[in-house]
Amino acid sequence: MWLLFCANAAAPAAMAQGHTIVLKNGRRINALSVLEDGDKVRYETSAGTLTLPRAIVDHVESGGLPTANAAAENGKLSLRPPAGSASDPALAASEGEIEAHVFRDGEVDRSYISELENDARSGKSLANWNAALGHHLAAQFEAAHGDLDLALADERQALIYAPQHPVFLMNAAYLQLRRSEYTLSLEYLERARRVAPEDPDVAKLTGWAYFGLNKLDQAAVEWQHALALRPDPETEAALKKVLRDKEEESQYKENESRHFTLRYSGASEPAMARDVLRTLEHQFDAIESELSYAPPDSIGVILYTQQTFADITQAPAWVGALNDGRIRVPVQGLSSVTPELSRVLKHELTHSFIQQKTRGRAPTWLQEGLAQWMEGKRSDANAAALIRMAVTSPEQVAAHFESDWMKMSNEAAGAAYAWALANVESLLHFGGMTDLDRIMDRMAAGDAPEAATKTITRSDYNGLTSETVAYLRQTYGN
Ligand SMILES: [Zn+2]
Repeated sequence: MWLLFCANAAAPAAMAQGHTIVLKNGRRINALSVLEDGDKVRYETSAGTLTLPRAIVDHVESGGLPTANAAAENGKLSLRPPAGSASDPALAASEGEIEAHVFRDGEVDRSYISELENDARSGKSLANWNAALGHHLAAQFEAAHGDLDLALADERQALIYAPQHPVFLMNAAYLQLRRSEYTLSLEYLERARRVAPEDPDVAKLTGWAYFGLNKLDQAAVEWQHALALRPDPETEAALKKVLRDKEEESQYKENESRHFTLRYSGASEPAMARDVLRTLEHQFDAIESELSYAPPDSIGVILYTQQTFADITQAPAWVGALNDGRIRVPVQGLSSVTPELSRVLKHELTHSFIQQKTRGRAPTWLQEGLAQWMEGKRSDANAAALIRMAVTSPEQVAAHFESDWMKMSNEAAGAAYAWALANVESLLHFGGMTDLDRIMDRMAAGDAPEAATKTITRSDYNGLTSETVAYLRQTYGN
């Protein structure tokens, strides 16, 4: 029997048909749209519009791999980076010049940026702007190619040269948000607000930071303010969602512990809430030591009655609990943490860790496989069925690597969960947590999931499937 507890709501939502820009050095860049514009190629990614010199582009392929917003992929509200409406005339003047030199051979030209920094030592204001702009453009480029760490380092450098520039401040805040570092993000946004109090993007991003910190009232105020300044479907959808949560939770009680903010309906006992927090804190320490990582900000947890859970999450009937940035768990009729609830909490908490550790880039199979493993599940009961399936329907054993799990039937979802767990067991068996840790680090740095897996284990998904079947035979076969 397949047992289902959870879906991570990791629907690869709203993927646009994309394009691939192939550079002369062979590097491939996925883009939502591509526009050839004189000696430049402009392209749109989830991190904004970027430009490449035409000279380094070999050709453009249509209908390439779709580029999805990483946040949307993980069931969170989607968020695009600020449009940079508050641009500075001085900035615009030198932008073309800097842009033409800062990229070379499909990479950021670091020696050119060093030159800009040397010039900036002269103390002239234009040289200062140029150094700031070079780093800002580099930050945009690195973010679009998935390296959020490098992008943030560049944007911080830009702010050393231009500490008051609202676009740089907003972009730094946006990158912190992408890393789930909400408190740090707010520091940049407060600075941005002082110089650009009526910029709708400042309010939009601030709402996002408060939402991440479970401060729903403040998130709603910011998003209402953003909408008053400028209509925006993305903000409207976010506001609608937060108002729905706020209304449901208005009668809820709140409890806090070191790493969690817990809300629960008046129908639950305060003793139950304390028990849940105690359990979660204990699990937090256990997962932290396994994954060598700890989420930086407080994690939101909401305990629902069964019916409310279904209404609020609008998730398929087979979903038992859900993690869409906040951990949502139905606990109807419980007065203490049962072993079953404890497993569900640990499973969901694992999702929060993986989500943040990989900057939202872990594929569903890794999320669900590792979450099941952490809660203590093993493949023993499913091994025989999986081995049989690999022989009789080899075409079905790869569905869980790619498909949108939220659209799966009960049966298909059951098989997907079982394969995901077996894959993770196999990875741990052959390479230990060190390998999984490195795979997640590669994903966090922007590698596609299969490429990250292959870099560390030398096996692509086909190879992983073969190894998993061998592992199952060896471990559970008779
Ligand atoms: Zn799950």
